Amino acid sequence: MPEATLFTKIINGDIPADKLYEDEHCICIKDISPQAPAHVLLIPRKPIPRLVDASPEDHEILGHLLLTAGEIARQLGVEDAFRLLINNGADAGQTVFHLHLHILANKKFTEQGLAL
Ligand code: AMP
Repeated sequence: MPEATLFTKIINGDIPADKLYEDEHCICIKDISPQAPAHVLLIPRKPIPRLVDASPEDHEILGHLLLTAGEIARQLGVEDAFRLLINNGADAGQTVFHLHLHILANKKFTEQGLAL
């Protein structure tokens, strides 16, 4: 059994995080070291290490992540201007080997929470 990733530990509640949203496939947390006024991470529950490690059986999860990213951007009030980023591999800047989407926006989102 491989060691649980940092994000699996967050998903399991073993490490605290500022959670904005969760469903059966994914969770969304605030990035601990924001690189933009609004910076959240969308993380599948399944610990796929890198995007290239995803397989055809993951297509539902991958599609769900994109659709959810759009919903979260809407809920955060940044739907007209945000960036989605996936770092794939250490040389591309990936530091946590559990697939995640960065949602970044230059507009600060409100703190009202999400109701997806
Ligand atoms: P990456 O470099 O693409 O692998 O992104 C990993 C991201 O996880 C970085 O933006 C970190 O700031 C963020 N991060 C690391 N530890 C935590 C944590 N405990 N809670 C929230 N975000 C974290």
